[in-house]
Amino acid sequence: MTAPTLPGRDALESLSESFESAEPQEIVRWAVETYGDCLSVGASFGGASGMAILHMAAQLKPDVHVFVVDTDYLFEETHETMRRATEDIPLRNVQVYKSGLTHEEQNSRYGAALWMRDPDFCCEIRKIEPNRRALEGKQAWISGLRRDQSESRANVPIVAWNEKFGVVKLNPLANWDSAKTWKYVLEHGVPYNPLLDRGYASIGCYNCTIPGVQGRAGRWEGFDKEECGLHT
Ligand code: SF4
Repeated sequence: MTAPTLPGRDALESLSESFESAEPQEIVRWAVETYGDCLSVGASFGGASGMAILHMAAQLKPDVHVFVVDTDYLFEETHETMRRATEDIPLRNVQVYKSGLTHEEQNSRYGAALWMRDPDFCCEIRKIEPNRRALEGKQAWISGLRRDQSESRANVPIVAWNEKFGVVKLNPLANWDSAKTWKYVLEHGVPYNPLLDRGYASIGCYNCTIPGVQGRAGRWEGFDKEECGLHT
């Protein structure tokens, strides 16, 4: 069997346009067949979109590399969702990446509750750096971003070169809305974070997540910040 030809960076824009009318499953299949073991699926075990993507990818490749950035500040419900999904979907290759600094080391070096003073720097230490390690040696990264999630995500491409992490980034669910995503999750019996049934619309670190508000407005209350920097 001949290996599939990898698209060059200059071909990604037209490829992305050609995927605008494709179903997410078709895009995930293309990614699995094109990048194989060099493909990673980023998972937060927080939102329904990410759970749908995990299910789609694992149906095609049960040992697909799934990475989780554990900031040390994840809800217990998020850990429980990871355990359930690993068993039920199932996921055969889940790898957890953590900051090089423990919570205590961060406190002693930069002071307590850094997230209340400089959330960008806290996200850099606890999310961006581990995310970089997770993608070392990989060629492509799938995430569950949707354009309807926030204004800052309204124009995410389906496929694009990601300079920050040096990989091709895919957002196969870009064109789906919340209703389509939930239909997929419920029809396929995909496990999801129980906090989504308790008023949380977007789930990240417990320090920076509040329930009862729509979209990503419940993240980083009091700051003009909607993204942790992984997807910008
Ligand atoms: S979401 Fe909050 S606690 Fe988590 S890494 Fe970012 S600033 Fe720190």
